[in-house]
Amino acid sequence: MRYRPPAVVPLDRILPDEPLLMMGAGPVPIPARVAEANSIVINHLGETMNRVIEQVKEMARYVFQTQSARVLGVAGPASAAMEMAICNLVEPGTKVLSVCNGYFSRRLAEMATRCGAEVALLEVGMTETADPEKIEAAIQRERPAVLTLVQGETSNTVWNRHLPEIAAIGRKYECLVVVDAVCTLSTMDMEMDTWGVDAVITGGQKGLSSIPGVSLLAFSELAWKRIESRNAPMAHWCLDARLADRFWNLKSYHYTAPVSGIMAIHEALRLICTETLPARFHRHEISSRALQGGVQAMGLDMFIPEEARLNSVVGIKLPEGVSGDAVRNHMSQVYRVEVSGAFGLDILRIGQMGEQCRAHHVFRTLHAFGSSLRAAGAKIDLPAGVAELERILAEGQVT
Ligand SMILES: *Cc1c(COP(=O)(O)O)cnc(C)c1O
Repeated sequence: MRYRPPAVVPLDRILPDEPLLMMGAGPVPIPARVAEANSIVINHLGETMNRVIEQVKEMARYVFQTQSARVLGVAGPASAAMEMAICNLVEPGTKVLSVCNGYFSRRLAEMATRCGAEVALLEVGMTETADPEKIEAAIQRERPAVLTLVQGETSNTVWNRHLPEIAAIGRKYECLVVVDAVCTLSTMDMEMDTWGVDAVITGGQKGLSSIPGVSLLAFSELAWKRIESRNAPMAHWCLDARLADRFWNLKSYHYTAPVSGIMAIHEALRLICTETLPARFHRHEISSRALQGGVQAMGLDMFIPEEARLNSVVGIKLPEGVSGDAVRNHMSQVYRVEVSGAFGLDILRIGQMGEQCRAHHVFRTLHAFGSSLRAAGAKIDLPAGVAELERILAEGQVT
């Protein structure tokens, strides 16, 4: 034998006794029902799976607010769903306009470029929301067949709040609108049909509070027509939407579906349906506003001005001279709460997606954050922060 087995330890010797409370930019904590469902493996084809898939599609239509028959799942991260939307709608030479707010919106542009599209970038300032007028001018100039943008840019915590107007502009110029709603879906309004969005993308591990690795996307009828009439063959076999449709709509084999992950997303969607979207949007809004109010009452500033600020992920400026890494390490080690840094920006990001928006999690997080800031030498008013957090939560009746 040339190879000897490596000396490894069981998982429980690696995992901490008490898990960290995940309050970063994702993944987020999952409900017990979702975790249980994630342990199930059954045949990926057959009557039982068919019933599960039918319900997943029905519930996803509610969450995406669409009647579309083309709701599909994909075994892969949200990026795989992004790539599936792009590579099916784009052929070599297709003109694409990508609205770039930051890291993730730029990823859509990168994917379109790799598919051979002629991509024009519309750069949006770091702390600004995308401006519909500028988008209309760029569409008139570039005449794209596809427009890509994010609803929420997780990397710098910007919200493209004018998405409904932007989607309407896309329609006016017969340009398909592709929206990354990975961090926002089920945390705020996203009316696919009413707004006229042609592809909506989400992942499991953010707003939906499911596991990473199984994602959902929906195409409009217009988008589906474009896919059916494409000339160029699909380079990606796994991401071919027409092949995926065989599994998701025709009860037959494409590839072996990620059964456990689909069970998990079924339960995550079911919990959303039980809560209802209006109640869920309210919980997210109040929880996030309470957290932001608490942070500001402690004496800190938010990174993004209110009119462009995302609620699903909260970006906080650090006081002069305070190390973000020191604060984050202290939060993890002493309080078992994990938050995120940012791609090169001097901010901390606290997630407000799905299970992260529970009063007990937000209290624990704000306290851990304030205490750790103090330990790092910052002068902040922690009691004032906690009082403001409590006031806004009580006013919004979120517990
Ligand atoms: C997290 C995120 C992604 C990427 O998700 P992965 O599952 O890591 O591929 C894409 N877009 C946005 C807006 C995100 O927040």
